[in-house]
Amino acid sequence: MFSVALLSAGTAHAATDSATLGQVPGYFRQRIGDLTVTALFDGVVPLARSMLKDIDAKTVSALVANRYVPESKDGFQTAVNAYVVQHGDRVMLVDAGTAKCFGPTLGNVITNLRAAGYKPEDVDTVLVTHAHPDHLCGVATPQGAAAFPNAILWLAGADVDFWTGDEAQAKAPAPMQPLFDMARKAIAPYAAAGRLRRFGPGESIVPGVLAVATPGHTPGHTSFLFEAGRKERLLVWGDVLHYHAVQFARPQASFEADTDRRLAVRSRLDVMRRSAANGWWVAGAHLPFPGLGHVRREGDAFAWVPVEYGPVR
Ligand SMILES: [Zn+2]
Repeated sequence: MFSVALLSAGTAHAATDSATLGQVPGYFRQRIGDLTVTALFDGVVPLARSMLKDIDAKTVSALVANRYVPESKDGFQTAVNAYVVQHGDRVMLVDAGTAKCFGPTLGNVITNLRAAGYKPEDVDTVLVTHAHPDHLCGVATPQGAAAFPNAILWLAGADVDFWTGDEAQAKAPAPMQPLFDMARKAIAPYAAAGRLRRFGPGESIVPGVLAVATPGHTPGHTSFLFEAGRKERLLVWGDVLHYHAVQFARPQASFEADTDRRLAVRSRLDVMRRSAANGWWVAGAHLPFPGLGHVRREGDAFAWVPVEYGPVR
């Protein structure tokens, strides 16, 4: 029975006070064939215009204006996403966010994982696309313990060698130095417990999950291709691109932080072609949240078709 007395004016006002309204929880769920995929929002990071290379400034301005990309003095708003992919009882996490490595605008993967109905202990497999802090730091707690205590941590052998070895660090410029230390620290609890596994290009990691080599952003950068059914596939592509408003339309434009920019362009073109030709679902770490959708061919280039919000079927 409805009663007017249940409507408390004070409560209603407090609940809609614009000063206290934050963003809604940062997760989004999509069923893809046999898979239940949950996108987790880690936060946002600004990426500077000046780090876009191999493209002229006028074209960049036209493309970002066309897409209404939010921009601050530090750069374009860029999402950081991670993904839970559940197949039967297997709970896999692709990338783990930033934890406390990059400041207060990031580090929300665990909060959003819990909001989405999972616990860190539920995760049995952590697949990391590459060893940069916005993907890897979240596998460890700030105290240095494994954030996913029951999980095996999988990382490309090429990235383990590069980011935890002394050789590349010795040659790296000063601003890159902390990245090596962060990678070592994140991996340490898994390595100590014998739960760090390396994989190579093209290897099957667990049944139904293939490592697709997409090097360039880092030497071992990997996208993960999940079988979702007889024909359906999901490609979680990590950092195949960083500037969505620019790099779908101009895949040759590159990112200063890529270890090998030319190789990154080749990998980008390759997976965009394959994704569009096969109609794969795609999930991207730096696509606007939830970063799930499809790639469409558009002339000589590509366009992003984001998922629609809807019921989980
Ligand atoms: Zn990244």
